[in-house]
Amino acid sequence: MSVPVGRTDVLILGGGVIGLACALYLLRAGRSVIVLEQGTAGGATSHGNCGTITPSHSMPLAMPGIIAQALRWMLQPDAPLRVAPRLDPALFAWFAQFARLCNWSDFKRLTAAKAPLLKLSRDALEQLIRDERLDCEFETLGTLTVYRDARAFEKSAWLPRALTEVGLPVETLDGADCRAREPALNETIVGGYFHPLDAHLRPNLYAAELARAVREKGGEIREATTIRDLRVENGRLASVSADGADFSGREVVLALGAWSPLLARQLDLRIPIQPGKGYSITYTRPAHCPRIPLALKERAVCVTGWSSGYRLGSTMEFAGYDASLNRTRLDALRRGAAEYLIEPEGPQIVEEWYGWRPMTHDDLPILGRAANVQNLTLATGHGMLGVTMSAATGLLISEVITGKAPSLDMSAFTPVRFGL
Ligand SMILES: Cc1cc2nc3c(=O)[nH]c(=O)nc-3n(C[C@H](O)[C@H](O)[C@H](O)COP(=O)(O)OP(=O)(O)OC[C@H]3O[C@@H](n4cnc5c(N)ncnc54)[C@H](O)[C@@H]3O)c2cc1C
Repeated sequence: MSVPVGRTDVLILGGGVIGLACALYLLRAGRSVIVLEQGTAGGATSHGNCGTITPSHSMPLAMPGIIAQALRWMLQPDAPLRVAPRLDPALFAWFAQFARLCNWSDFKRLTAAKAPLLKLSRDALEQLIRDERLDCEFETLGTLTVYRDARAFEKSAWLPRALTEVGLPVETLDGADCRAREPALNETIVGGYFHPLDAHLRPNLYAAELARAVREKGGEIREATTIRDLRVENGRLASVSADGADFSGREVVLALGAWSPLLARQLDLRIPIQPGKGYSITYTRPAHCPRIPLALKERAVCVTGWSSGYRLGSTMEFAGYDASLNRTRLDALRRGAAEYLIEPEGPQIVEEWYGWRPMTHDDLPILGRAANVQNLTLATGHGMLGVTMSAATGLLISEVITGKAPSLDMSAFTPVRFGL
């Protein structure tokens, strides 16, 4: 039998960077919060990601040419994007919607929708880190996207154009300029783009610091607490049972990342999120550690250096909720880095990791009140950019719940677009 234990203003389901940022902004707005987390706060996808803060990634994954590329990659187990073939109607539906968006008109529309959210979040994050003294190795050094293939670089002229159109600064560099900016790059680099507005932080520290700030402000984080049942009464989410205890909130925020569709089914909500699996390898720092985070374009590998370590990460695999560490895909990170860097690996491996990105087919998060459950707000679907979007998400969700005018037009992110 469940015992009612937790009653609060706002009950937050999921303790990743999104749930924690929502909790922190809600506490700042004077609300009490309880966060329910099955593992440790920030211990899932928010833990081993690359930690880059990238308004420069305003473009959606869906773009002309990507489907043909993905099909070519199907037979290549170490390709940057891979779909593990399986019979899953939700996956087929997801890809059918995704394929419909692979045209320049939707590409422009989605880029124009995402850029303001990323810019708002970049500024809000810096402010939050300062206000709450979040000690997470945050640095504002920009990021560099680099190419080794002259033809691929030449064909990438759409990239600076797309960024400039949405008001994002970008500098086009030749190979020598790239190496001058980042001496850890080797002689094979032919050109690239510098994104001055980008930043980076150490994501596990950021999540831990968010959790600290939440607790210091009186928020409660229940770790090792797995949510099992959601009970609706009179159109409201009346209680949530988790490991033998019942919790209730006047308002509830669903921030379960890639797990969101699994529990939301109990509310008749079909959230169109697929887990987009990515990997990372964390090392102690190499002697030639990049200062500026790098996107190694042709191999789609991200490289981030911090004073406390060094990480290779990325790859995108649609393989359902597969929890294995795929050696081929981990090795692809190493091989990719070896092509671009003087010293691609650090002296010691600290961690090999995978995480499930919560991917929507339009690559925009789902932010706002659910239509059919009065006190439920969705904060999920942050895909490849949840750390980057965390501060704006916390701010906007706190505004939704406290009834304030939103800092940004949220219509592009509304759950209604998916019938939720
Ligand atoms: C390889 C890789 C690199 C990345 N690099 C970047 C980057 O450089 N910059 C960037 O901005 N983003 C990056 N991302 C994306 C980013 O990591 C995610 O978008 C972000 O972590 C999502 O946060 P979240 O809080 O929504 O999800 P999560 O961190 O996954 O949090 C959801 C939480 O819900 C909990 N939960 C699930 N089910 C239950 C249940 N039944 N009961 C209780 N709790 C439950 C989970 O345990 C989890 O902690 C990367 C991702 C990957 C995989």
